Amino acid sequence: MNAKRTPRVVVIGAGLSGLVTAWKLLQRVPRGSVDLTVCEGSSRPGGNVSTERVGGYVLDGGPDSWVSAKPDATELCRALGLGDRLVETLPGNRRAFLLHRGKLEPLPEGLLMGVPTSPVAMARTPLVSWPGKLRMGLDLVLPRRHPSKPDESLGALVARRLGREAAEALAEPILAGVYAGDAWALSSRATFPQLVAMEDADRSLILSALRQRRRAPKRATPPSIFTSLEGGVGTLVEALLRALPEGTVRTGLRVSGVARLSDEDPRGRWAVEVDGNPTFFADHVALAAPMHRAARVLKGMSALSEALGKVPFGSAATVFFALDRRQVPHPLDGTGFLIPRREGLGLLASTWASSKWPGRAPPGKVLLRGFLGGAGRAEVVEQSDEALTTAARRELWRLLQIRGEPELTRVFRFRQATAQPLPGHREQVKAIHDAAADAEGLHLLGAAYDGVGIPDVVRLALKTADRIADALPLKVPSVSPSSGPPAPR
Ligand SMILES: Cc1cc2nc3c(=O)[nH]c(=O)nc-3n(C[C@H](O)[C@H](O)[C@H](O)COP(=O)(O)OP(=O)(O)OC[C@H]3O[C@@H](n4cnc5c(N)ncnc54)[C@H](O)[C@@H]3O)c2cc1C
Repeated sequence: MNAKRTPRVVVIGAGLSGLVTAWKLLQRVPRGSVDLTVCEGSSRPGGNVSTERVGGYVLDGGPDSWVSAKPDATELCRALGLGDRLVETLPGNRRAFLLHRGKLEPLPEGLLMGVPTSPVAMARTPLVSWPGKLRMGLDLVLPRRHPSKPDESLGALVARRLGREAAEALAEPILAGVYAGDAWALSSRATFPQLVAMEDADRSLILSALRQRRRAPKRATPPSIFTSLEGGVGTLVEALLRALPEGTVRTGLRVSGVARLSDEDPRGRWAVEVDGNPTFFADHVALAAPMHRAARVLKGMSALSEALGKVPFGSAATVFFALDRRQVPHPLDGTGFLIPRREGLGLLASTWASSKWPGRAPPGKVLLRGFLGGAGRAEVVEQSDEALTTAARRELWRLLQIRGEPELTRVFRFRQATAQPLPGHREQVKAIHDAAADAEGLHLLGAAYDGVGIPDVVRLALKTADRIADALPLKVPSVSPSSGPPAPR
């Protein structure tokens, strides 16, 4: 790198991955010591995080929360001064429902990643037949699968241990539902490594889940599995944008190419092209666009591009309905419901946003969200707003006996937005890193490198910023994300 000029860093993509990288990098380096630009192809930062606030309602079109057990996103919020805006799910409504033969049934208590820990609750639930329940019990005696065996699908793992019926009735909607994916296609090791580890460690999934339950502190109300923010997940994006110097994030700049320059080039190692023209030069490029988009922009790196392009992504749409509470006879005493594919509906799931979170709707009103699309149904997202609203409305109105017209509807689309890690995904990610090994100064990050949820992408972004800061010719101490709010810039 040219020793005289300020080091240049370009981040591609202003979703959470790109914004967190930019924020953490500026935490690590002295003010003004790095020339940093974040290029965002669309007209707004945030990527999948799309929060709208209208008429007292908070609509989280994409993610509405993250898994509480993974600390990275929560710690980041605290570091950004959002500690007092973190929210838990409403204590009275910490259960979910499942559609079974056209009827909403509560999920049995004590499920841990779809694995039962309460024999009484399991005996009572109509979600699995008696032969299905007896087959689940076989898990207690079945031998362990040898850990050296190749990765298998999530459905295959659960069916092998708990039986096909349990896999279809519980694992598919509860586990694969997180990915809006197909349980029989998704990799068990990449999506729920905890389940694989449970079998490796304890042989039986049920015994392993029971051991974990016994170790967990006893509480009167179940803990909040998810954490969110007042004002929705968009509050996090807004805080990150506030903490970055004005002009750092540039929207409407879709990167068309990233090309490597010669090591002697005084402008930097990388040229970042917009509309085919070299627009930025950089010593470090953090490519925080989804893998399939990253694959398209990398020039002259065909092995890397090909490896990135192999990870499939799915599309989904969410549809919101705001209603008066009196229009919905159902008690809405839960976070929402899941729909197994075998029920044959277009809707995948529904979140009862105003029952799940405080402050998502004005008093006396309810806010409901329907999920459509998912793996193998990409075409659904291309339907008109009217068609999507009609499809979601038809099923929600019938299942919750809703009466009358909604006071507000809103549709969000997520094209090729949810990674679908297939068996062998970890090897695929290794192939990506191997292909990028000699691309000095190029950093790949985002969903599916090491988990697809918000805490996973935050963790990788923080690590990426550290790696860049460590490689810059600057000598400064590391600042951890939990060490207090950022210094005003
Ligand atoms: C419908 C939905 C619901 C979800 N729910 C949850 C949830 O409840 N909890 C949870 O933990 N996770 C959830 N997720 C996953 C979560 O949204 C992602 O982990 C996270 O948002 C990924 O952030 P990212 O920055 O890596 O990618 P993205 O959010 O995809 O951001 C990438 C950005 O790069 C930009 N970009 C792409 N190509 C270019 C280019 N060539 N030039 C410039 N910019 C470009 C895009 O416009 C985008 O802004 C959900 C995802 C979806 C789609």
